[in-house]
Amino acid sequence: MAHMLSGLSIRTVQDLLFHLPLRYQDRTRITPIAALQVGTDCVIEGEVNATEIVFGRRRSLVCRLRDNSGTVTLRFFHFSATQVQNLQPGVRLRCYGETRRGSSGLELYHPEYQPIGDVEPTVTDQNLTPVYPSREGLTQKTWKNLSKQALTFLNPGTLTELLPYGVSGESSTVAIEAALRYLHSPPADAPVQLLRDGEHPFQRRLAFEELLAHNLSLLRLRKKTKSLRAPPLDDKRDLADKFLKNLPFQLTAAQQRVASEIKSDLSNSTPMLRLLQGDVGSGKTVVAALAALQAVACNYQVAIMAPTEILAEQHFNNFQQWFRPLGINLAWLTGKVKGKARRQQLEAILQHKAAVTIGTHALFQEEVQFSQLGLVIIDEQHRFGVHQRLALMEKAGADIDQPHQLVLTATPIPRTLAMSAYADLDTSVIGELPPGRTPISTVVIDNTRRDQVVARVRNACSEGRQAYWVCTLIEESETLSAQAAQDSCAALQIALPELRIQLIHGRMKNDEKNHIMQEFKNHNLDVLVATTVVEVGVDVSNASLMIIENAERLGLAQLHQLRGRVGRGTAASYCVLMYQSPLGQLGKQRLQIIRDSNDGFFIAEKDLEIRGPGEMLGTRQTGLINLRIANLQRDSHLLDQVKSTAEILINEEPVIAEQLVARWLDDSEHNAQV
Ligand code: ADP
Ligand code: MG
Repeated sequence: MAHMLSGLSIRTVQDLLFHLPLRYQDRTRITPIAALQVGTDCVIEGEVNATEIVFGRRRSLVCRLRDNSGTVTLRFFHFSATQVQNLQPGVRLRCYGETRRGSSGLELYHPEYQPIGDVEPTVTDQNLTPVYPSREGLTQKTWKNLSKQALTFLNPGTLTELLPYGVSGESSTVAIEAALRYLHSPPADAPVQLLRDGEHPFQRRLAFEELLAHNLSLLRLRKKTKSLRAPPLDDKRDLADKFLKNLPFQLTAAQQRVASEIKSDLSNSTPMLRLLQGDVGSGKTVVAALAALQAVACNYQVAIMAPTEILAEQHFNNFQQWFRPLGINLAWLTGKVKGKARRQQLEAILQHKAAVTIGTHALFQEEVQFSQLGLVIIDEQHRFGVHQRLALMEKAGADIDQPHQLVLTATPIPRTLAMSAYADLDTSVIGELPPGRTPISTVVIDNTRRDQVVARVRNACSEGRQAYWVCTLIEESETLSAQAAQDSCAALQIALPELRIQLIHGRMKNDEKNHIMQEFKNHNLDVLVATTVVEVGVDVSNASLMIIENAERLGLAQLHQLRGRVGRGTAASYCVLMYQSPLGQLGKQRLQIIRDSNDGFFIAEKDLEIRGPGEMLGTRQTGLINLRIANLQRDSHLLDQVKSTAEILINEEPVIAEQLVARWLDDSEHNAQV
């Protein structure tokens, strides 16, 4: 069990105390049957009137239960012969369940029930019954016992009050000990609705403290980094000017603005810590290139890190095209670079023969050492966390305290997340797309209407356009998804013999992938069938149609990314989201969001909102920030106050700040960030 608990990051008594119920059941009173309301959980008591097996659309066991006030139906779709026998007329039962509207009027599906006689009549629970987030193998009973034991350790003074009066307003007036005790076992008269919505003052108090701790840990990191020295990079214009002159376009006003923000950060000896946000296709890469040139012009090295092999490769190709004519050498390092080639790259990095190194997280590895690393650029798409970002800082070279950092996010970060998971970074936003782009229309179609989709592909290609056909992962298996893509590709080649259709997937050799990408770019191919590798892949402005099979398997952000591969030219572009029915309510809602919006920020907000906290323990709500009690969406109204409190504490109460971080962040996070 210790093992199961530690899998949930529960190691200490305090962790148990902070493992709070997700919701509560009210078993403190018996509700008269006549007073039952649809959608609420209640305890009822009554006598079985009649029990029969009915054969409707589904076979079910139906039991009528009566008290002084009325009658209600208990319905079981799964039942045993013993159950049928035990529910004979005349038996008195106490039941607990949710009331619904069923075919016979009000019904309870699969209620818990006990014959009265086993329970003392009219005696009910004194407190609300907690329901803890759990996982397989751990029952609610176990959780109740564990938290009961943990509460015996909790006395006034066991946990120091860390929220000082006057700093944080309302939240600090509730003692932490009282709040925890109450939330594990609320009294019968507790406001159930507030508790259910997570808006009880005690819940808020804890959420506030937790968010504060996370914020402090990032501010602490920021403070520490800012106290180090980075190489001031003068803005020598010659490289940048040449680069801009060779570009086939002008920077947008937004690009110019953020480029100059970065430029002035880089010229300081305080390390830059900047997040560059911009929707897909907003043109972050050229801005990053300008930053790189400023470092290179001052004879410092630059590391550019991408989350996937393909994206790293695309950056490598771009930068090579841009920087070669300027006489700048590049190095290339991913997990796939092995043996002699690897040694050569490592040497080029160490000896400063390469000014710019591009790669994947392979750049984190110990053997990588720079000679004079002045700037780290991370294109992260939500995939790297703070800890990883830090690892790269250690490799800068003997004379460098701290390189400048620029983080690019292709997925716009909702404000709530930006304020918490990225609190250590300054932010620049590219809020517009380059001119000449046409909005993409998105349609949602059942997988079974494949013929119509194929016809669309035929039309688009016969008008001289190109199309992507993306096959999504079946499992986390490249082999299986490659197979699925192969099948789709073969089917398309048969359905559309007049078109040039090729397959690309993650298991191909790099040369082969590059070749196919290039062929598509040169319009020697009409349709590119791909696994999700194209998500971050090519930039082909003639492609105007994006088909995504089994779109319901992908996250909203990822769908938005994929869709962003089209709509890059002047032609009207379309995105077709195919789904496998039946699609649940949530699935429908998700695809509708993508269909109705082209705004990455809006989509990201919605994504966060509907993902919410799961019934199974999913504290890793965002993948970036590990919250136990707070919920970024629900508690977003606390964030402004959290932020201002954190800023005061970090400067005026460093000891308390330290204690808060130690209390709420687990060791690995805690240590990684110091
Ligand atoms: P993202 O922000 O998604 O990383 P990219 O940097 O890949 O976007 O840019 C998308 C495309 O837009 C690229 O082909 C790039 O060359 C082009 N681009 C960038 N800036 C401009 C601009 N100011 N005018 C026209 N095209 C641009
Ligand atoms: Mg990009």
